[in-house]
Amino acid sequence: MGAEGDIFGEVKRYHLTTFGCQMNEHDSERMKGMLESLGYTEAPERAEADLILFNTCSIRESADSRFIAHLGEAKRLKREQPGRVVGVGGCWAQSVKEEVFARFPFVDVAFGPGQVHKLAEFLTSDSLTAQGYFEFEGFTGHLPARRTRPFQGWLQISVGCNCACSYCIVPSTRGREVSRPLAELVAEVEAMSADGVREVTLLGQNVNSYGRDLRIDGRPASFSELLQAVDAIEGIERIRYTSPHPKDMREDVVRAHAELRSLCEHIHLPLQSGSSRILKAMRRTYDRQRYLDRVALIREHVPDVALTTDIIVGFPGESEEDFAETLEVVEEVRYDSAFTFIFSPRRGTSAAELTEGLVPHPVKVQRMERLLEAVQRHARERAQRFVGRTMEVLVEGPSRTDPERMRGRTRHNKVVNFSGLATPGELTQVRIDGASSQTLSGEESLLARVAG
Ligand code: SF4
Repeated sequence: MGAEGDIFGEVKRYHLTTFGCQMNEHDSERMKGMLESLGYTEAPERAEADLILFNTCSIRESADSRFIAHLGEAKRLKREQPGRVVGVGGCWAQSVKEEVFARFPFVDVAFGPGQVHKLAEFLTSDSLTAQGYFEFEGFTGHLPARRTRPFQGWLQISVGCNCACSYCIVPSTRGREVSRPLAELVAEVEAMSADGVREVTLLGQNVNSYGRDLRIDGRPASFSELLQAVDAIEGIERIRYTSPHPKDMREDVVRAHAELRSLCEHIHLPLQSGSSRILKAMRRTYDRQRYLDRVALIREHVPDVALTTDIIVGFPGESEEDFAETLEVVEEVRYDSAFTFIFSPRRGTSAAELTEGLVPHPVKVQRMERLLEAVQRHARERAQRFVGRTMEVLVEGPSRTDPERMRGRTRHNKVVNFSGLATPGELTQVRIDGASSQTLSGEESLLARVAG
């Protein structure tokens, strides 16, 4: 089943659909890089592919049903051309393992997030039977990457998570935390820079606990040490990272945002709930006051920082008072934006076993509406501080809302739609003349462009 010619003798083609988080986007870039190193090329449509792949997510029950709908089309295409290979990777595959084949007998290969490299083994083997690979070993970061944008790169700094948040399936689908050696990461970023990458995003389930399991001269490495090392690399203009945990947002990391030239003024600090009682039930290991202390520390060192967050409404046992505490924190912190979720039980998590104090769905929806109103109001108000300022923007491509304009991001991770001459991958200066809760708008400063 290698990449040599398909039944028509032409180069084999793959189609990959990615669901879920940035870690999956990263893993998919590696899967593509690996397949292309085997001689495959990408097919724009699933129906044109010899190899149909899915990189799945399992964070919420609903993720599964959306993916299953896509799998249905793969089944039809395989029936039309039995020589096609169907493969399922990612967290959902890891969460159900061999059950994939029992439920979907037309699937040829399944692999967990830690086994992407096994896909190559399967494709180059003469195996005629379906194969599943579900061990936690290896970093996809070791595989060649085919980047979505040549000037932006993902850097996988660790895999897995040692936390035990009661609603989260990740520890069981991605395993324990393992950090990649610091020197190896520095070498990878140097190669990325030589390759034209200007913005690098450090990836981990819990990035700011990086290095605890490593030893450098007998001591653990630290996340701020890694940030300093990446900041020192020629050609890297911007560093971002996701996802941090408030319990590990220490002063050295916060100071790095104030001191390092390329570390962006944006920090994502997931809150989840403003109620210490609910945070305890979620096993988040911090309470409301400790979270607010981190916010104060961040704003002390980086006053103009963009703060974003994640919030869950309707966690089992959440009373109206608990939810009011979440709104209080939103009013106090005034986030630049927030990802908001309605709690849904995820099979295989301890929160899914909870039966007391379940919040009726209409109440969850009503709380979500009140939360969204507050989040968007603050996001809109906070964004006004950029109007009238000239901001550095990394151009990503054409605007999604106006083909005459371009789109890019500020160091605060704010999307900007602007008119100008700059092209994707360029860093340019844009004078901001408008702001909504979601995006900024502006005009490229041609003076700055000429001055270069
Ligand atoms: S920190 Fe909690 S929510 Fe985040 S991946 Fe780990 S267990 Fe899941």
